[in-house]
Amino acid sequence: MSYSNYDKVFKQLSVKPPKLQKYKKHNAPKARSCGRSLKRCRRCGRIRAHIGKYAIHVCRQCFRDIAVDLGFKKYG
Ligand SMILES: [Zn+2]
Repeated sequence: MSYSNYDKVFKQLSVKPPKLQKYKKHNAPKARSCGRSLKRCRRCGRIRAHIGKYAIHVCRQCFRDIAVDLGFKKYG
């Protein structure tokens, strides 16, 4: 289980509903009202290296990929 895809194991456990219920009960991420885990990348779901400036809300890795499409130009 990684933080980006908590529900990845749901596909495996779908054939065992009681196990799935138990898994959700004991492993569900804590519901948070604030903090950096709420600010996720829109594109890949990554938490760290979040860029929220200009309401972009992507991580730095995705920003590098899509910056030209967004209209950013690299100087120097
Ligand atoms: Zn990303």
